Amino acid sequence: MEITIHRGTQEIGGSCVQLSSGGRSILIDAGSPLRESQCEVKLSDISFEAVLVSHPHQDHYGLIDSLDPATPVYIGEIACKMIAAARTFTSRPPLANNFRHFKAWTQFEIGPFRITPYLMDHSSTDAFGFLVEAEGKRLFYSGDFRAHGSKEKTFDALLARPPQKVDVLLMEGTMLGRESAAYRREKNIENEMLEVLSEEKGPAFLICSGQHVDRLCAAFRACRKAGRIYVVDIYTAWILQILSEHFDTTPHFRLKDIRVLAHGPTAKNHYMAIKNNAKFTRFIREIYKTDTAIKESQIAESPSRYFIKNTRIDHLLNALNPPQCSLIYSQWSGYLESQYNPQSWKLTNLRDDPRVSFHEIHTSGHAFRQDLKRYANAINPKLLVPIHTEKKQDYAKHFQPIQVKAVADGELFEV
Ligand SMILES: [Zn+2]
Repeated sequence: MEITIHRGTQEIGGSCVQLSSGGRSILIDAGSPLRESQCEVKLSDISFEAVLVSHPHQDHYGLIDSLDPATPVYIGEIACKMIAAARTFTSRPPLANNFRHFKAWTQFEIGPFRITPYLMDHSSTDAFGFLVEAEGKRLFYSGDFRAHGSKEKTFDALLARPPQKVDVLLMEGTMLGRESAAYRREKNIENEMLEVLSEEKGPAFLICSGQHVDRLCAAFRACRKAGRIYVVDIYTAWILQILSEHFDTTPHFRLKDIRVLAHGPTAKNHYMAIKNNAKFTRFIREIYKTDTAIKESQIAESPSRYFIKNTRIDHLLNALNPPQCSLIYSQWSGYLESQYNPQSWKLTNLRDDPRVSFHEIHTSGHAFRQDLKRYANAINPKLLVPIHTEKKQDYAKHFQPIQVKAVADGELFEV
């Protein structure tokens, strides 16, 4: 089996891996870079017959809209819905790809490759690692994973029964370069949020990814325990709707302690993106019911009753103008820095607003070093290859005695 990491050996994101056997190839992930990349990947320059997408984050699927629509794209069903939602609400046309869905731990074949998807714990839902077998060789691709989220049991299960006789492990190492990040379990997030929500006398706001399911659920549970009402934007309501179709534990926007801020300037873009889309007719009818939709003016009557997840907190802060409030910032701290986020000023303006008590309550979607070690030791591959990391040079030190092969982008190697 031949392996080429077209991108991902020296950066976090933009992953794109080609596997070849007997003259036939597949791609694992077709990601767009998170930031300016030193490596340009054009899918049209690579010959392959199918793509596997590990999970619905741009840095793993962002290039699939450049594919020939006939090319099969294998992806989890919920992951596919998440990508469709992100495109719809940013007013982009739907993807025309030839999607095929796989199920966790259910083998399937593409040409000479036999593939087993392993469900992983990550900050996106429906995230997978892949065991790929061909020519009697076994490769394991970790995808993005962690051991401290709501699916931590899947991590423990993998450690208890790891794939056997793995020749090569391609393992992410995002956190090797981010050692300063606070170690929290996803479980702790809920309690820390509850503390803030209980002590705050004014309104409270939430900034987090609209697709970070663990986080949306933790925030809701904290909100409920604090006796507040969870106010979500239209996009988040749609995400909760999708998830409720698959999981009993996801809060649905029809619950009596959830409201959708479906009126006013903060709702306009989301509404415009779906108003002429027949797929959303019923959803729109439901979110505008009187006991579901809420207006800014209703929030203004008693702002301290609410915990508000919205992308236009700047607007709400000025509209409600509370003497004090709490803002829970629940995403990567890098987005507060201009070197990583050209629009960081929008966030730092909120952080520095004298009315705002700013609380950073977050934990990474990626495994910390000790969990990477446990994972690598359990799989115990003949060869460990760094990917999705800025610290490939540190793998040999961290994961000894496992043999490490740090390759370059575009370099072909064989197992
Ligand atoms: Zn990811």
